[in-house]
Amino acid sequence: MVCGHGERPILRTSTTKDNLGQRFWGCVYYEVHDACDFFRWTDSEARGAQQDSEIARSRKKITTLKTRLKDVEWKLRIVATLGVVGWIGFLYLLLHNSHNLRQSYGMQLISR
Ligand SMILES: [Zn+2]
Repeated sequence: MVCGHGERPILRTSTTKDNLGQRFWGCVYYEVHDACDFFRWTDSEARGAQQDSEIARSRKKITTLKTRLKDVEWKLRIVATLGVVGWIGFLYLLLHNSHNLRQSYGMQLISR
């Protein structure tokens, strides 16, 4: 790893507001004279960036899972609604039938 001057870069610490305290490799002549634009974050920084992308990937996964969960919830709600409607229908038929049965039983009593 050499800079534009053919020199080995030296490890520096960033003093810019955005990357304060972060380490990077810079030109030997940095801040002196005729510095080339050699610049490279240290390996730990590269690893940090990788971790960031992994975090982004897991976040994406979570979002996908949440979307799927919502889809399942929606389906369950439909099934539950249909179930309730089904039960109401069933109870209605049951009451209706028992009413009819009682009526016919009463008619039998009268005809006796
Ligand atoms: Zn240089």
